[in-house]
Amino acid sequence: MMAVKRRSSHDVLLSTALENFYNAAEEMGLEDDLIEILSRSERRVCVSIPVEMDDGTVRVFDGYRVVHSSALGPAKGGIRFHPQVSLDETEALAFMMTWKCSLAGIPYGGGKGGVCCDPLELSLKEKERITRTFAARIEPFVGAWSDVPAPDVNTGPQEMVWFMDTISKIRGHLDPAVFTGKPVSLWGSKGRNAATGLGVATCALELLRVMGKDPKTATAAVQGFGNVGSFTAKFLHDAGVKVVAICDITGTYYCKDGIDVNKAMAHTQSNPKKLLEGYTQPGLEKRGPEEVLFLDVDVLLPCAMEGTLNKTNADKVKAKYIVEGANGPLTPEADEILKSKGIPIVPDFLANSGGVIGSYFEWCQNLAGFFWSEEEYNQRLVTIMKSNFQRVWEYSKEKNVLMRRAAFMVAIKRVADAVKMRGVFL
Ligand code: NAD
Repeated sequence: MMAVKRRSSHDVLLSTALENFYNAAEEMGLEDDLIEILSRSERRVCVSIPVEMDDGTVRVFDGYRVVHSSALGPAKGGIRFHPQVSLDETEALAFMMTWKCSLAGIPYGGGKGGVCCDPLELSLKEKERITRTFAARIEPFVGAWSDVPAPDVNTGPQEMVWFMDTISKIRGHLDPAVFTGKPVSLWGSKGRNAATGLGVATCALELLRVMGKDPKTATAAVQGFGNVGSFTAKFLHDAGVKVVAICDITGTYYCKDGIDVNKAMAHTQSNPKKLLEGYTQPGLEKRGPEEVLFLDVDVLLPCAMEGTLNKTNADKVKAKYIVEGANGPLTPEADEILKSKGIPIVPDFLANSGGVIGSYFEWCQNLAGFFWSEEEYNQRLVTIMKSNFQRVWEYSKEKNVLMRRAAFMVAIKRVADAVKMRGVFL
């Protein structure tokens, strides 16, 4: 067979995602026809969303819902509201969801959705009308056994309830398992709020374990103190790791004897903007926001945003290990620099998969109509995260590749096997 002609895209996110896929697929010797199938999305839905604004004018927004693969099960992936949402971006994110769900070992394919709008310019009522009209337009394509959306940038529990309510009204019956990320009071799960951070912390602890480092003598620095960063810091602290620095947009908060993470979390909860600004404890030093990245610690956990470590600053990293809590916190150039320094990196789609595993738990509970305690939720999450980490770690040793490449290979293999067994008929 002729070599596969690689798809290309002007969209950076999509071209990077495709390149990572092609490189891993070729390295593992995946058949050309499977490469062709998996490099494309199964379904790309584009809809227009006419909405009456508060001032009586009508604006039409563009919305997208992409299913990259449903080989392993219903598609899973968030819906974002953002001015930069495009079909290419949505496709790239759906593509990454396929590998994340596959690697997580859950019975889901990959999907993603979005509406191109600026939530900062919208009133609550306008946001509700956009959400409900978008829900109605994509209704034929979503469902507990076809495509299960979730929150993403600028969407949360309220939007998920509007989505669920609209779909349920169209269908004439309550359909809670179509959307995850709902509030606990309306078919959501206890434990979901902390799930991503618990997963990131579990990966960090597993990495310390395989490196032979006792957590009680280890140090960590966490960049970002929002949902992911704060719970990551909390669970590491609970496990005995000394978290010497935390950080948000207001700066790095360093204490050589360890940050009192619970106190810092209580501080951000009471701060109107949920920021660390004004946080203090004995021995605390305040430094610039970037400084957290260059501390001499065992584990650095970038949990803020994408592209944090790049070609301009990656050579200043002194940490022994990196666990990626955020999505894409390392640019490909930073990845190369850190690779040459021999720093082991737990990739984002393994480390932060606790969120999607938590969504899977919510879906299971909705289908069963039976809810678990937070303890049970957390225990199951930790068990799955440990075994996923172990699988990638062992594969990386066996194939002598870095963890990011190993994770891609493990993820691609599971989807490719499913496509092979199910056949290519539809
Ligand atoms: P968040 O908005 O709750 O928190 C982001 C934090 O990063 C805030 O503390 C903010 O002050 C800080 N920050 C932003 N820019 C910064 C900068 N330049 N320097 C230092 N700090 C900065 O967001 P989140 O939900 O915690 O998500 C963080 C990352 O994790 C994102 O990449 C997101 O896509 C990813 N992620 C989140 C989840 C989830 O369940 N929330 C799941 C998977 C991946």
